[in-house]
Amino acid sequence: QNDADVRPKAFTVKHNQPQIFKLCPLCTVHRRSLLDVSLIPLFCERAAMKASQFLISTLKEAPADAEVVSHKLMTRAGLIKKLGAGIYNYMPMGLRVIRKVEAIVREEMNRAGAIEMTMPVVQPAELWQETGRFDKMGPELLRIKDRHGRDFVIQPTSEEVVTDVVRQEVRSYKQLPKNFYQIQTKFRDERRPRFGLMRGREFTMKDAYSFDRDMVSAKASYQVMAGAYRKIFDRFGLTYRAVAADSGAIGGDLSEEFQVIAATGEDAIVYCPTSSYAANMEKAEALGPSQPRGVATQALTKTATPGKSTCEDVAALLNVPLSTTVKSLVLATDTLDEQGEIVKSQVWLLLLRGDHDMNEVKVGKLPGMEGGFRFATLSEIEDHFGCKPGYLGPLNLKKSVHVVADRDVAVMADWICGANEADFHITGVNWGRDLPEPALVADIRNVVAGDKSPDGQGELAIERGIEVGHVFYLGTKYSKAMNATFLGEDGKPQFLEMGCYGIGITRLPAAAIEQNHDERGIIWPDAIAPFTAVVCPIGMDRSEAVKAEAERIYNGLLEAGVDVILDDRGERPGAMFADWELIGVPHRITIGDKGLKDGLVEYQHRRDAESSKVAVAEILAHVKARLSV
Ligand code: ATP
Ligand code: MG
Repeated sequence: QNDADVRPKAFTVKHNQPQIFKLCPLCTVHRRSLLDVSLIPLFCERAAMKASQFLISTLKEAPADAEVVSHKLMTRAGLIKKLGAGIYNYMPMGLRVIRKVEAIVREEMNRAGAIEMTMPVVQPAELWQETGRFDKMGPELLRIKDRHGRDFVIQPTSEEVVTDVVRQEVRSYKQLPKNFYQIQTKFRDERRPRFGLMRGREFTMKDAYSFDRDMVSAKASYQVMAGAYRKIFDRFGLTYRAVAADSGAIGGDLSEEFQVIAATGEDAIVYCPTSSYAANMEKAEALGPSQPRGVATQALTKTATPGKSTCEDVAALLNVPLSTTVKSLVLATDTLDEQGEIVKSQVWLLLLRGDHDMNEVKVGKLPGMEGGFRFATLSEIEDHFGCKPGYLGPLNLKKSVHVVADRDVAVMADWICGANEADFHITGVNWGRDLPEPALVADIRNVVAGDKSPDGQGELAIERGIEVGHVFYLGTKYSKAMNATFLGEDGKPQFLEMGCYGIGITRLPAAAIEQNHDERGIIWPDAIAPFTAVVCPIGMDRSEAVKAEAERIYNGLLEAGVDVILDDRGERPGAMFADWELIGVPHRITIGDKGLKDGLVEYQHRRDAESSKVAVAEILAHVKARLSV
């Protein structure tokens, strides 16, 4: 095809940069960004597309192992093909979506001043040993050996390698700040690869790493990335929320997850409908009741609860609200010697209201728990409580344990707990009167809908989300471990301040589908649809008029810069429509003999209940008016 023929007229007028048009005459992604020359070559092949020359491989049935709708639909629509557990072929139709996701990400990263590079998938273990992650990371890190027996890892992320590059390249504060990113294959040997591209083992991530001279500047770099992420997720056309996330040992508030809202999401997101508060479940603080503890009114009473070992069962048996019961969770921490052998174990009793759940991340931050914890063994429990699980409580202990009361439990009066005797509970328990005040009161539970918002602005609500991006301030964790320094203004070496920023490129389409589908298939937002529009001629082989009009409309859309495919396969209308509805192309134009006689064609947006008749002369304008990119 002659480049000049497909050059979009509008652009020839607007920009006089002929080399751009030569490379990328048509693609919709680049229609938005023609000034960014570096992106163009990737897309120039997407110009003209006829279905007969492409691969359309739809399936009636979803694979048996597909549990979620995105996995089912991506497979049925022929976007992906499984090769092994958590390992997929990105089929031509699926790759188009991934390329559009990448293009938007790349464009906004470049715009935000990040610099693209690529780091190897296979990385020498030495760098990973410098930070200790080679040993510390669990089996998620895929370790391999070469023919000489040397250790390597397949990158699950690239902090080590990028830090190694920067410690060699950056000598002076004058070269800072810098932000390097890549869009690259990752491998994580996930315990449960599932849901198709949602939790793959091999997947594509955009990972960026910022390097700054000090914390103030690092935080500014973080904010630039967080802003770029908002632009990226806005452009995808998805409903999402940026939520505060736990920043682990580093502390501070500089970690946010970008969550695509979907009922099927793996993560619980906490937000306040009347304020801007939003956090993930690990981070969201349960303030606890503001009113003081009530006065004791009941006598301490041992009550038979035969066979009732859960708070729910006990509450039902005694006909009291679940919120008057207290559950006992027994954990343990170990002290290790230099050989890693356990020299001492400490048993902990965590008390939570019967209707509340423990939050492991919050527990892991308790003083004394930082080194990790585990559930106590049966023998540890019997040793300290003289009773099997199901009837445990803080009274009548055989050996002392570390008691931690959740904030809500600490203000309870007249509560119910296990009696440390099988088939018995105790009612009317009161702090101070029946047992000492708790040694430690802390927030150790998951918030629930209706809890007070930590910003004091209303009540919390909970919805589900899919984590598609994560921005994180790292501080000097990696630069210290790898001795990555630069010379400051005073001529002295200083550790680089870092941040890291990920986007799940291949998870994103799956998340988009979880949010946007119906019983017929996928409904893509325009920005990431494999094709923005499809032209469906009916009886193209029988009717010259249909063929000519279909070609005319198809070419018209191409010229207008619309990413369009012409379905020239000669399928019957029912099968043809079913394919495109399954694949989820947002705009469809149908051309048939009958309509043409009246000068009409049909337009249907994937979200429209019915098609509408449009005059042939109006159709291009009609489609353009419905485009959102
Ligand atoms: P998750 O909690 O879902 O395992 P993560 O916290 O391990 O995610 P990060 O290390 O922050 O993820 O990686 C950045 C992004 O990469 C995530 O926000 C997610 O979109 C994507 N991602 C992580 N693991 C996978 C995977 N197994 N398959 C596909 N995408 C993934
Ligand atoms: Mg993970």
